[in-house]
Amino acid sequence: MTRTAIVTGAARGIGAATARRLAADGCHVAVIDLDENTAAGTAAAIAAETPGIRTLGIGADVSDAAAVEAAVARVAAELGAPTVLVNNAGILRDNLLFKMSETDWDAVLGVHLRGAFLMSRAVQAHQVDAKWGRIVNLSSTSALGNRGQANYAAAKAGMQGFTKTLAIELGRFGVTANAVAPGFIETDMTRATAERMGVPFEDFLAAAAAEIPVGRAGTPEDIAAAVAFFCREDAGFVSGQVLYVAGGPRA
Ligand code: NAP
Repeated sequence: MTRTAIVTGAARGIGAATARRLAADGCHVAVIDLDENTAAGTAAAIAAETPGIRTLGIGADVSDAAAVEAAVARVAAELGAPTVLVNNAGILRDNLLFKMSETDWDAVLGVHLRGAFLMSRAVQAHQVDAKWGRIVNLSSTSALGNRGQANYAAAKAGMQGFTKTLAIELGRFGVTANAVAPGFIETDMTRATAERMGVPFEDFLAAAAAEIPVGRAGTPEDIAAAVAFFCREDAGFVSGQVLYVAGGPRA
C-alpha cells in the first residue's frame, strides 16, 4: 500500500533529503515550505527521480493555523490521506539571553513547537481514520543546552516532550511518534551560523568534525535515514523515542 507523507520545511536541507528518501521508500510525498515555487521545484525533482511516486509542493507557514488546515486538506485531496508526518520546518534566531528579543523567542517557538502542534493536530485526524500513522519530529542536540540558543534549545527540548505525549495519546490508534535529534549537519542552517560568526564555512565544518567521534559532520541523508526508520511499516512497536544522530554519544 502506498502511504502519503508530508514533510515540512522540505524545499531544502534535511527536509528535502527526507522527502526524497520517503519517496524512494515508496511514499507519495507532499513538500511543504514557506515559498510555494521552491517547494514545487523540490517536489518535481523528487517525482522525476522516483517513477510511480506522486509529489506535491505547497507554500504554507506551519505556524499559521488556517494555512496548515488548508495545506493538509489539499494533500488529502490531491495525494491521498496523509498518514506519515515529518515536522522538520525550523529557523534559528540565535543570541545570548541578555540580547534576545521577544520577537526572536516567539518566532523560534512559533515555527518549531506551534508548527509541529498545528501540523500534528491536522494530520492525526487522517491517521486515526486509517488506524495507522507515523509522526517524526526534528529535535536537536541543542535540546541539551547550547550557548546563544535559549529559544532554540527550549523549542527542541519541547519537541521531545511533545513527541512522548503524542506517543501516549495516539498509540491506541496505531500511530507512533518519535523524534530524531541531529548533531552538526551540513546545511544552509549551519552555513548561516558560520556566516553570522564570521568564520569560513570550511573552517567551521573542520572544527565541528574534530569534535565528532566519527570524524565528520553529518549530511541531510544521515538524518533522512533515521527518520525513514521510524516511518517503516515494521517500526510500529517503536514509539516515544528520541534518537540522537550526531556521530557519537554526546552533543
Ligand atoms: P534549513 O536548511 O534552514 O531548512 C529549513 C527549511 O524550513 C527551509 O526550507 C525553510 O524555508 C523552512 N521553513 C522555515 N520556517 C518555516 C515555516 N514557518 N513554515 C514552513 N517552512 C518553514 O534547515 P535544516 O538544517 O535542513 O534543518 C531542518 C530541521 O533540522 C530543523 O528543524 C532544524 O532545527 C533541525 N536541525 C538541524 C541541524 C543542523 O545542523 N542543520 C541540527 C539539529 C537539528 P525558507 O528557506 O523559506 O526559510
